[in-house]
Amino acid sequence: MKKPNGSEIIQLFESWSPKKIACMENDPIGLAIGTLNKEITKVLVTLDVNEKVADEAIEKGCQLIIAHHPPIFRKLSNLRTDTPSGKLYEKLIKNDIAVYAAHTNLDVAEGGVNDLLADALELENREILEKTYHEHLMKLAVFVPDDYADKVRIALSKAGAGKIGNYDSCSFSTNGQGRFRALEGADPFIGNIGEMETTDEEKIEVVFPHSIKNKVLKAMLNAHPYEEPAYDIYTLAVETNIMGLGRIGYLKQPMSLAAFAEHVKNRLNVPCVRVVGNTEETVSKVAVVGGDGNKYIHAAKRAGADVFVTGDMYFHVAQDAQSIGLNIIDPGHHVEKVMIKGVAEKMGQLCSERKLAVQFIQSEINTEPFIFI
Ligand SMILES: [Zn+2]
Repeated sequence: MKKPNGSEIIQLFESWSPKKIACMENDPIGLAIGTLNKEITKVLVTLDVNEKVADEAIEKGCQLIIAHHPPIFRKLSNLRTDTPSGKLYEKLIKNDIAVYAAHTNLDVAEGGVNDLLADALELENREILEKTYHEHLMKLAVFVPDDYADKVRIALSKAGAGKIGNYDSCSFSTNGQGRFRALEGADPFIGNIGEMETTDEEKIEVVFPHSIKNKVLKAMLNAHPYEEPAYDIYTLAVETNIMGLGRIGYLKQPMSLAAFAEHVKNRLNVPCVRVVGNTEETVSKVAVVGGDGNKYIHAAKRAGADVFVTGDMYFHVAQDAQSIGLNIIDPGHHVEKVMIKGVAEKMGQLCSERKLAVQFIQSEINTEPFIFI
């Protein structure tokens, strides 16, 4: 087992929940406080960072905190140590505790906040509620002398090209003749300077997501025997790596809105929920958006949700939901606490697979500001 530094841990985290999938403009994600350039043996996972959480990190010997809500949300105009937030930053820095925030990227990520909430609510046959990220599929067509076709094909699939759904190493080939004349200064693999050459070649076609274009090209160029390989590369009108905010799925069994409200309370461990709608109505298709989902009532309605579970519901938005016939359950914003266990377990698994000796500790501090009387 190897003791990792902070950057190695965050690299793994971002292989699961990359910054590029964040869906809020100027979302202050990433390293917020301190440095990742140090050895890390204990990471505290929390929904929020407040002074009690900082004390917990100190007490438990954590060198890094991974939080869902960014501890510095608005730009600072000063760094006074006589304000509550200033005192928090001072404490974290004096104790050499780094804080890394994964906000809307963790909401969107597969297995992130919204999937964890959908898991907790036991939603089946789930889909994304609102698409917020996709990549275009690209195609590479490369012309390779027959004897080298296997080598190039293997290199392409090792680089991640040719993955379609649950299949990998997908490619298509056509055979034909390549023609060329090497000019002065060339070092031809086949043929001689100044002479026309015709050779049996295979045209290999593969698809891959735009984000791995450079890796795929590099692999092809390294495996190809020619000095100047001939290839076409183009963007397809096919989307891949589709991700988004919120989830929509079905309950195992339809139930009344009143029974579903009880289910939400039990499954998300909250003492009460606010309900909009007719409690007698039967619900089976459920949409969920962690945190503040006010903006998504129409997306939930369009997607055919019988009920929408989200926090921080405003009075007027609740009235709008009522007028479009959408039932709402508001269990509060703090239900995003499901990420504490989810992130700690996922990161624990990713790090142990790579034999990194680091422990992910689930924060036990309750950061819910509301009490229910
Ligand atoms: Zn939130």
